[in-house]
Amino acid sequence: MPDDAHPMGDPPVEMVPEYWPSACSDTPRPARTIHGLFALPGFLLLWIVPKRIGASLAASGWRAAIVAHVLAMALGGGLILWAEMYNWSSLSASFWAPSWAPNVNRPIVSIGQLPWTDCVRGPFAAWALWAHESGIGAVGFARVLLIVLGVEACAVLVAVGIMPWAAAGEDVLRLFGRCLRLTWWSTTLMIPLGIAWLMHPVIRPILGLPPEWHPFDYIALSGIGLLWLSILLRSTRRYAGPAEGPAWTPRTPRCESCGYRISHPPHAGNCPECGRPVVDSLPEHRSPPAFGEANEFINGVRAYGATLHQVVFEPRFFSHLAIHTAHRRARTFFLLTCLINSLLVFVATFGFEGRIPPKQAILLQVVADAVTAASVCFGIQMLLGGLLAALISAVSRRPMQSAGVMVFYAQSTLLMWGVGVAALPWAGYRSSAWLDRYPTNIAAASGAVIVMAIALTPFVLGTYGTLRALRRAVRDTRYANA
Ligand SMILES: [Zn+2]
Repeated sequence: MPDDAHPMGDPPVEMVPEYWPSACSDTPRPARTIHGLFALPGFLLLWIVPKRIGASLAASGWRAAIVAHVLAMALGGGLILWAEMYNWSSLSASFWAPSWAPNVNRPIVSIGQLPWTDCVRGPFAAWALWAHESGIGAVGFARVLLIVLGVEACAVLVAVGIMPWAAAGEDVLRLFGRCLRLTWWSTTLMIPLGIAWLMHPVIRPILGLPPEWHPFDYIALSGIGLLWLSILLRSTRRYAGPAEGPAWTPRTPRCESCGYRISHPPHAGNCPECGRPVVDSLPEHRSPPAFGEANEFINGVRAYGATLHQVVFEPRFFSHLAIHTAHRRARTFFLLTCLINSLLVFVATFGFEGRIPPKQAILLQVVADAVTAASVCFGIQMLLGGLLAALISAVSRRPMQSAGVMVFYAQSTLLMWGVGVAALPWAGYRSSAWLDRYPTNIAAASGAVIVMAIALTPFVLGTYGTLRALRRAVRDTRYANA
């Protein structure tokens, strides 16, 4: 007789309850809120303590967020335009020469010589001048309108891309509103950027920099980009709204194969629709992966490798993954993936440019290019990952938080792209060196082809692996009970 047999005969058969408890049982802690335009000075605190102030600013409503955004774009953008339009900043020549700037010598003045009223009017005057120079009448108006709409479309895209990162389990519309308001609030970083841009020619001699654009400027711009992303991401981390949405809604037990409601059959029974044993659909079958439970740094590194291995080599990984909980760890997992990829891009750019051209390359220039490439790679990965999760959430009608968890794990195979990016320049350099040296040699030519093929393999593997993981993730978590 087995140990667990009931002494009085068969054990009572456990029934599947009507509902399983909601994924989240805590009520969000409300944030201190300042209503209306009184919240405006809050942007200064947002730059310093984004996590703490983000929830308050998001809760202070639409009006303050819109005014903060419009003011930031008008002031910050105006300051940059001002700096670019006038020749006192010698930056325009070597950076992008704006197509709308007429090729005339503008008076060179120093900002110190301007009365303060002109300084205040400057950014707005720059906008007016720019709008005037963009074209007269309907064409000019249409052009300005198109640019404004483009900028706002980008803001909406960023807000959507940040949704799976920010999701706390609230309704999707409320989540979108919170992300859009915080994206608008985060654009206030344009103001210090604009001031720095305008004051650049004054700051340069103090720092001992040459008058033209310098690697230092690109590193600083990348730094500001990363700072903006970090402020935006951290500001969305705390949700202080009402406990309404998928995370606080009790879930209907469903067969994980066909989605049939299994509230009534006992654990020992089968799904009335497809015959899958009810036991296989119980939430106990799903849990966070190794990384979801590792807390210490060393354990975390080990668990990252273990989870990566599972995503790639374990076909049933997504059948056992709990997608309604441990969202924060999944987010950290994907952040690490983005970080490793960006480091690979950094190493690749550094190694590549450090070699070609071997003599003229200036170290700081190479570092600047590597930092810029790595930062751009980091931002693009984060936002594209978020956009993909948002798309899957919309198409397959699953909560944003759950879509985020599965996509954050499924995309780890993209690391192969980083390996490819790191290998490709080296392979290209090697192949072209062989071909230059032995232009007519068949062996050199085939060697070059083989090396290039090897370098391209990670891209193929990475794309294939990610598509496969995404397909499994979507299929195996469709009716996930945990
Ligand atoms: Zn079924």
